[in-house]
Amino acid sequence: MSERMPVVFVSHGAPDAVLNAADTVDCWRELGRQIPLPSAILVISAHWEANRPTVSLASAPETLHDFSGFAPALHRIRYPAPGAPALAKRVVALLSDAGVTAESHPSRGLDHGAWVPLTAMYPEAQVPVTQLALVRNAGAAAHVALGQALAPLRDEGVLILGSGAITHNFDWLDWHADGEAVPSQKARQFSDWVGAHLAAQDGPAMLAYRSAPHGAEAHPSEEHFMPLYVALGAADGDKPQRYQPRFTYGGLSMDAYLWRSGQLRPA
Ligand code: ZN
Repeated sequence: MSERMPVVFVSHGAPDAVLNAADTVDCWRELGRQIPLPSAILVISAHWEANRPTVSLASAPETLHDFSGFAPALHRIRYPAPGAPALAKRVVALLSDAGVTAESHPSRGLDHGAWVPLTAMYPEAQVPVTQLALVRNAGAAAHVALGQALAPLRDEGVLILGSGAITHNFDWLDWHADGEAVPSQKARQFSDWVGAHLAAQDGPAMLAYRSAPHGAEAHPSEEHFMPLYVALGAADGDKPQRYQPRFTYGGLSMDAYLWRSGQLRPA
């Protein structure tokens, strides 16, 4: 018997976090070391939304440079992990069991929400990876339900990795801020609110986050917060451990969470 796989959420920040945010990269490395080597990884990234849950069947997913205005060096990074089409099919089956119709995409690659943290967590790119799209405008509760339906994957050695942001209001950012800058007070307050309510396992408060202090302002659109809810559903009542690397650009919380189970899974 071995431990049920943990669940992870990371704030991926701006794409250049992988080059410039050393303590965030250290945090991602540490997360990679903290958990058993997965058989495969399912990433739920803020950068892929669809009208229905959609998984990628790509066998060798392309590294997508789905951004502009950052250093050319970022565009040269490739993350050559194999795809995980068998996992993708398993996701479709699990969602179908839960009464959710999912679709598959034949070739969709890895967006920066996936490969940026993975380059630090699994630099050898040896673990097969696929992505599951968020459902556009479906809201928090629907994403918790998706995570709950996927929780059995944890007993199959699969790492469920949500990748989004705890705060994502560009009006709070200072693009010239360095790592020593004092972060926006609103960003810090909301980030701490999330930390406290996740620790208290207060599901109803988490679902009503837009009523929290600066909650709606922290997420002018919801897509960067939804991967947290998929992770929360998959966490299945496990207690989170919070990691707090420095804010980037003065307003992007880089908080990460690890939910580790006390339960054993069949060896
Ligand atoms: Zn993003």
